[in-house]
Amino acid sequence: MLTPAFRFAPSPNGRLHLGHAYSALLNAAEAERVGGRFLVRIEDIDTTRCTPELAKACLEDLAWLSLAWEEPVRFQSRHLVEYRAALAKLDALGLLYACTCTRREIAETADPARRDAEGQVLYPGTCREAGHSRDAPHALRLDMQRACALLNAPLTFTELGEGEVIADPAAWGDVILARRDIGTSYHIAVVVDDALQGISHVVRGRDLFAATAIHRLLQHLLGLPVPLYRHHALIGDETGRKLSKTAGDRSLASLREAGVTPEEIRRELGF
Ligand code: GLU
Ligand code: ZN
Repeated sequence: MLTPAFRFAPSPNGRLHLGHAYSALLNAAEAERVGGRFLVRIEDIDTTRCTPELAKACLEDLAWLSLAWEEPVRFQSRHLVEYRAALAKLDALGLLYACTCTRREIAETADPARRDAEGQVLYPGTCREAGHSRDAPHALRLDMQRACALLNAPLTFTELGEGEVIADPAAWGDVILARRDIGTSYHIAVVVDDALQGISHVVRGRDLFAATAIHRLLQHLLGLPVPLYRHHALIGDETGRKLSKTAGDRSLASLREAGVTPEEIRRELGF
């Protein structure tokens, strides 16, 4: 059997806070419990928000917590070619189309009552009908109906502690898989990397539970293995309030500056 593998995958668009620390510590603890590997992946494809300085700071914060991960760390910004290859595969299946809509155009044409799991209005499919060429700047959207028509059985995933869950990607509508500005997306990068890195256990925040349906669909379409999932509760306001009172906010950097020790943080978070 393959060695279990866990990953903590922060986006370096700000400093890590207590919620990140909880997720990282949980991944590392679970990896240790089952004799698995613990990896860190820097999800920095969004170059409009992520910086090398923040990525470096993320790793320093994790080291300060005395976490130890396998080297090398995977930086997603260095693997755009792999994400492009995955998009090309979906394109060859006829599942992608160019969308030139601005946010405003979508807001003006969408049905405000139809929303995805994150509360965003569903894309009304304007460009699917229009069939744009790819000359002008565009995003690539997944033709969700076509993609779901390729399924021969309902998609499911194992949510550890809960059991088998039915995934409903259709509820997301025609999601963007390649953003106009960066040419790729979180959804593509995360499924490609989890497969490439042999991740067996995806342990991450509850806020990503619904998006797992998209990930399951992409895994199916791209022929990728399916990890086990565990979406942990998000750290609430109560946790860390005592620590943050001295530090002003809940970033690990400001806690450290205020004299909070890694041991205190571990204790506060239950590790
Ligand atoms: N990079 C994502 C975030 O910081 C997490 C992705 C994941 O764990 O799948 O929210
Ligand atoms: Zn459009």
